[in-house]
Amino acid sequence: MKNIGLIIVDEEHDSSYKQAEYPPKYHARDAAIVLAKECNCPVVLGSATPSIESMHNTNNGKYTLLELPERVDGAKLPKLVLVNTTEMKKKGEMENVFSKMLLSAIDERIKKNEGVILLQNRRGFATQVYCVECAHLEKCENCSVGMVYHIKSNNLKCHYCNAIKPMPKACSMCGSKNIKLFGTGTERVEDELQAYFPSAIIERIDSDTISEKGKLGETLNKFRDGEIDILVGTQMVSKGLDFPRVTLVGVISAESSLWMPDFRAEERTFQMLTQVSGRAGRSILPGEVMIQTCDSGHPLMKFIMNNDYHGFFARDVQSREFRNYPPFANLCLAETKDKDPRKASETLIDLYKEMFNYNRAVSILPPSAALLAKIKNEFRFQMLIKTSRSIDPSASILRDTIAHAYRVFRQKGKHKDVRIILI
Ligand SMILES: [Zn+2]
Ligand SMILES: [Zn+2]
Repeated sequence: MKNIGLIIVDEEHDSSYKQAEYPPKYHARDAAIVLAKECNCPVVLGSATPSIESMHNTNNGKYTLLELPERVDGAKLPKLVLVNTTEMKKKGEMENVFSKMLLSAIDERIKKNEGVILLQNRRGFATQVYCVECAHLEKCENCSVGMVYHIKSNNLKCHYCNAIKPMPKACSMCGSKNIKLFGTGTERVEDELQAYFPSAIIERIDSDTISEKGKLGETLNKFRDGEIDILVGTQMVSKGLDFPRVTLVGVISAESSLWMPDFRAEERTFQMLTQVSGRAGRSILPGEVMIQTCDSGHPLMKFIMNNDYHGFFARDVQSREFRNYPPFANLCLAETKDKDPRKASETLIDLYKEMFNYNRAVSILPPSAALLAKIKNEFRFQMLIKTSRSIDPSASILRDTIAHAYRVFRQKGKHKDVRIILI
């Protein structure tokens, strides 16, 4: 394209802008900024929940902050209700995964033919299948993860390698028939909801249901026209849907993405819950949002309930500065993968030593097995490599150190066929 005059990156915080899986690996938002610099044109990064990095850049004067304090059409912010599921359980106010409050709010909307969106960010029916007698968890043979029970196909699926096996009738370890299903996925939400509202039209949106081309658009059109009462889905339902008839948004378990060992876990959770809340009451009809969680005391919840982005940002950015994470540090995750765990681990340790001896300005968290230690029959080891922005503003020290270690490994590494992934 010639003569680019303006680049707009909408929902700039969205993590799907980052392509980390296959080369070329890049972040589309950052690429847009580089392109705009070359074309000498402005970039508009739009978001109701800007990424910590972008907001930080408005504070340090790199970007200019433009605010839109009013909602479109003068719509009012929805009313937010936090539902403490632990307390509700004690009081007998829970019906399976739903609080009675949420069920009666849904009932009210169905009677008025208003739309309802329910978010549960896990697909499948039960996220864990385990034996009560011996505590054996049904795991994938190729990956070190539990398999997820899918009720529609009545089988167990691995969400990492797509392996499928039949739902066992008895424990594969001790033979006991006392097998329990734990953890809630979108299928369970849909299934239980249908039992409470037998005449309601419920559709589910997750990667299991929308693989068919055109299916997503078709479902959304029906929902817009009022042919569907309730939409149940993963984070897909939090993104950009603008339907004036939606007056209730329910979150089944808000804490489910907080346990992730990722320095962006809180940011992602804040963005997802704030974004999904924004789907309610986008026009004249007032909206209501019910967020269920067993962790209602989590500091994040206060910011979500008060719709306080700036408060959330101040807390998160301070914690990142304290722990030396982006935007205060340059970060690279190095991963080695191999069918032989010894080779993968030795390679990573060799890289670690090479980097450590090359430049002491680089800090490296010691190599360890990845949280998901085996995926698709390959063992994974990881280490986090950092430099502080104060001494390495353009990340050239970080890049140079990694490039050096990589070069040495390719020349004289013990296991030349081990895969090295740098993200
Ligand atoms: Zn067992
Ligand atoms: Zn697997």
